Amino acid sequence: MEEFGTSKIKENKLSALGSFLAGKCPQCREGKVFKHPISKLTKFKEMNQHCPKCGVRFESEPGFFWGAMYFSYAINVAMFILVGFFFFMFSDDVNLTVFITTLVVLSLVTSPISFRLSRLFMMYIAAPYRSFKK
Ligand SMILES: [Zn+2]
Repeated sequence: MEEFGTSKIKENKLSALGSFLAGKCPQCREGKVFKHPISKLTKFKEMNQHCPKCGVRFESEPGFFWGAMYFSYAINVAMFILVGFFFFMFSDDVNLTVFITTLVVLSLVTSPISFRLSRLFMMYIAAPYRSFKK
């Protein structure tokens, strides 16, 4: 396994947050994690198995991304709380059907974003990049 010291990280253009938001490899911060841009809605979940730049394997062990469900759940709960806050803040009489329909539609529409963010959270937070194997 190739070692990456702090000098290698300083040479990269993107910060950890920048590479996270851009969907880049957690180790080299250059290779793309996902094969297609998020605008291709039928292929938003296709990932590269290995980083195209450094060759690190993204799924460090079988079932690694099952843990991303917890991050996805947290993202959706945060979104529900935010929507609920606005609904109950700006309306005196909240229609429960409209509220629940809004939550379901919003959850479905943002699912590609939630999917990608939760996998990136899993790679960046739950498993530090140095633990990834080639
Ligand atoms: Zn890489």
